Amino acid sequence: MEKKIGMIANGVNIDHIPQGNALNILRYLRLERKYPVGIGLNLPSERMVIKDLVKIENYHLTDEQIKAISVLAPHATFSEIVNYEVVRKFQLTIPEIIEGLVICPNHRCVSHQYRSKFSFTDVSGKTIAHCCYCDHNYDLSEVREFNL
Ligand SMILES: [Zn+2]
Repeated sequence: MEKKIGMIANGVNIDHIPQGNALNILRYLRLERKYPVGIGLNLPSERMVIKDLVKIENYHLTDEQIKAISVLAPHATFSEIVNYEVVRKFQLTIPEIIEGLVICPNHRCVSHQYRSKFSFTDVSGKTIAHCCYCDHNYDLSEVREFNL
């Protein structure tokens, strides 16, 4: 495999993150200081116009972490690297349901007193987040508050 400048030897690379959400991903992960992190913010992207990017060295994500990151960065490109080889690479897909992560934008929603629960559907390029408590639908790209 071609060795690219800036490529990490071991770890994970999350590319095509919606602009602004790289920092949310890092807040969610609460990494220990021993993991070197590379962050790209507001990078030009053919696919997205502007994107963020996160690389974490010597770190591997659990399925649960990948699921949560799929909500913070729908359709981002996830790669796992071992000894400079990309061993896994796929586009993140939105989970059907996630609990506890999304804060319902409806301030009167009863979910604020419990663990929130959202279901998701992709509708013509947009991801719709549905609050299972108050039944409201939101465009996920406009949801700004998460439990991180
Ligand atoms: Zn709600």
